[in-house]
Amino acid sequence: MAIISCAFEPFSGLAVLRWLVDTILQQRNMTNNNKYTIIGAGLSGLVTAYQLFKAGEKDFIILEARDRIGGRIYSSNGIDLGATWLQYFHRDLNNLLKELGLQKFEQFRKGTSTLVYDERAIPHNFEINTQEPAAHRVEGGTSALIEALAAPFQDKIFLNTQVQHISDNGQQVLVGSNNGQFSAKKVVVTLPPKLAKQLQYEPPLPDALYQAMSGTHTWMGNAIKVGIEFNSSFWKTQGHSGTLIGQVGPIKELYDHTNADNTRFALMGFVNENLRKLQPSDRKEYLFNGIENVLGKEVRNYTNYQEKDWAQDLYTSTATQESNYQHPNYGNPIFQALQMNGKLLFSGTETAANYGGYMEGAVSSGLQTARRLQQKEWNR
Ligand SMILES: Cc1cc2nc3c(=O)[nH]c(=O)nc-3n(C[C@H](O)[C@H](O)[C@H](O)COP(=O)(O)OP(=O)(O)OC[C@H]3O[C@@H](n4cnc5c(N)ncnc54)[C@H](O)[C@@H]3O)c2cc1C
Repeated sequence: MAIISCAFEPFSGLAVLRWLVDTILQQRNMTNNNKYTIIGAGLSGLVTAYQLFKAGEKDFIILEARDRIGGRIYSSNGIDLGATWLQYFHRDLNNLLKELGLQKFEQFRKGTSTLVYDERAIPHNFEINTQEPAAHRVEGGTSALIEALAAPFQDKIFLNTQVQHISDNGQQVLVGSNNGQFSAKKVVVTLPPKLAKQLQYEPPLPDALYQAMSGTHTWMGNAIKVGIEFNSSFWKTQGHSGTLIGQVGPIKELYDHTNADNTRFALMGFVNENLRKLQPSDRKEYLFNGIENVLGKEVRNYTNYQEKDWAQDLYTSTATQESNYQHPNYGNPIFQALQMNGKLLFSGTETAANYGGYMEGAVSSGLQTARRLQQKEWNR
């Protein structure tokens, strides 16, 4: 009996099921066993992937928690609800735009601008010195940069894949997510440090690194942005630049957001964070009252209104995110240290030594990470 039972066991229902599961797992492991796994399809992760791809490397994947790429770069209906401006001295970003054949154009700032310094006083009007170098915008919105970068390797991006843990098994790094397990020789984490800290690491990372992660502010993680579209740029007809700076009141900053072709007309800016606690309809009303006080009733004739509160977005912000509009010092050198015996490294704008927080920081950290991955001594 025992012999028969042994002989037939491989064909029992349970054994077949086990064999099937093992085969599927083996196949999954094989397909998902990559040289490089990049966690996060924001600007930094995509720049690293783009550089690898350009150098002829095809053995990489990118895991992204959201159902879209771009991270803190997000243009919706022609409005940059995430990053917008770059400066002429943002060298790596300017070079990248050039390489990808993308155009930039000056932020519109001609005419009267307004400062609201006391809600009971008449706002102060002023002119921006147009001799000073202007900030620039990207034609087609900053998402055009994201789309251009990712175009050659769309098939390597896994969306809706939220990474939860990262462990070192000696040979490889195993990356666990809600969408299965992945393994790679080298893993790059590009999450804002506060989010990177929430992942589980086995073995655990050094205490000093966890401390640096929790102490690093996520740039703009607390911002609320609005975009309001119109049939015309009526403010320009009034001789107004569209720029409104609020030291008090519902608006913190508002700017003209007309597109480069002058075919779509909009205002875009930052809302006072105190309005977060209001109901959306009350917030909107308070906001429109504030703009109407400066630009008049025509502001009510909008064709589209959008707002995005980044503090509510769990793939950027955390519950402990405090407000901060002073640019912090980024680029703590501890983020440059290799972890898990050289198999894990950290990247992303908050890790950049120069222009951390900005798109420039994300691009330079993405470039630096690609260079490090390709270094021979690190790539044994
Ligand atoms: C409202 C706002 C306005 C801004 N304005 C400007 C500006 O005008 N000029 C400027 O230069 N910069 C600006 N910035 C900053 C700029 O957007 C960032 O510097 C840049 O986009 C950061 O890129 P990153 O790749 O380092 O990080 P991120 O864009 O944050 O990318 C990280 C990625 O990781 C993903 N992720 C998170 N958790 C997980 C997980 N567990 N598993 C898998 N994936 C995960 C995220 O979804 C995201 O795609 C602004 C940002 C915001 C929010």
